[in-house]
Amino acid sequence: MKIFILSSGKYGFRIINNLVSHGLSSSIVGLEEFSDNIPEFIEDVSNYMPVNLPECDLIISVGLFGDINLLVSEIASKTGAKTIIIPIHHPRQIPNALKEEIINSLKETTIVFPKPFCSLSAVYDPYIQEFVEKFGKPELNIEADKFIKQVQVKRGAPCGSTWYVAEELVGVGVDEAEFEAGNKFHNYPCMASMNKDPLCGDTVMHLAGYKTKEAVKRALGFTFNAAVVDKEICQGGEDCAHLCLNVCPNVLCGDDTISIENDGKAIIDPASCGLCKKCISECPYGAIEIFNEKIACRK
Ligand code: SF4
Ligand code: SF4
Repeated sequence: MKIFILSSGKYGFRIINNLVSHGLSSSIVGLEEFSDNIPEFIEDVSNYMPVNLPECDLIISVGLFGDINLLVSEIASKTGAKTIIIPIHHPRQIPNALKEEIINSLKETTIVFPKPFCSLSAVYDPYIQEFVEKFGKPELNIEADKFIKQVQVKRGAPCGSTWYVAEELVGVGVDEAEFEAGNKFHNYPCMASMNKDPLCGDTVMHLAGYKTKEAVKRALGFTFNAAVVDKEICQGGEDCAHLCLNVCPNVLCGDDTISIENDGKAIIDPASCGLCKKCISECPYGAIEIFNEKIACRK
């Protein structure tokens, strides 16, 4: 797979460093660095078109804000790229109308906008499937008794945070691992925005933290905290139109943290629940509460 990267700012720099240091250097056939002073609104983006465009399969555009992202469609047609990944790390980065414009300008090209980059998982596209063999939504193997002995990163966040968290978790008690994973993730530190994203109602940094903790919970097979739906109280959407589903930040970004069962009632996946409590305050029947005891998680 041949990858061409468009990058801007410290966020882009960090992603490139990590991809290179974790084995992708031989796949990167080109890199175009953009100033982080480029205006968000641009009359004619072709003025910014890179001069040297290598033939490639996948374009990854990291850290670019606003109209400059429109360049990807022309770059795809000139390089032959069939797949584009534009990770979202800030709510102001690509407004919805611009996203639509980019999608509409592409022909026969797969484009994804993972929010954040560490939420990327396999989609029906050979290049994304190859990329997520190593980078995207974190997945871990953990060897432990009462304490964590070894952590293997099966798939890591493109920024590198998963490898850092994995190293730091060795020696931590299994019962503290989920909490410590959240701390270590913030120490890295995550560079996603702390501004609330209006489309999902949470910050992109929090979304990224949920993914890291989810990887730990799945690898251990349990959590001590999650929002849980009381099936006796849940009305199955009859009067509430599944309000819980419509406010969960993870669901709004494409995860299945809350799903609806055949009887119409909601169920929450304890591993991916980020404990933001939005569903609790939204449910008109009080059917959801935080459960503070050990809960098994799907591996
Ligand atoms: S948990 Fe509450 S909001 Fe969600 S479907 Fe059940 S009653 Fe509706
Ligand atoms: S607390 Fe509710 S809204 Fe928040 S992540 Fe968990 S399931 Fe989603």
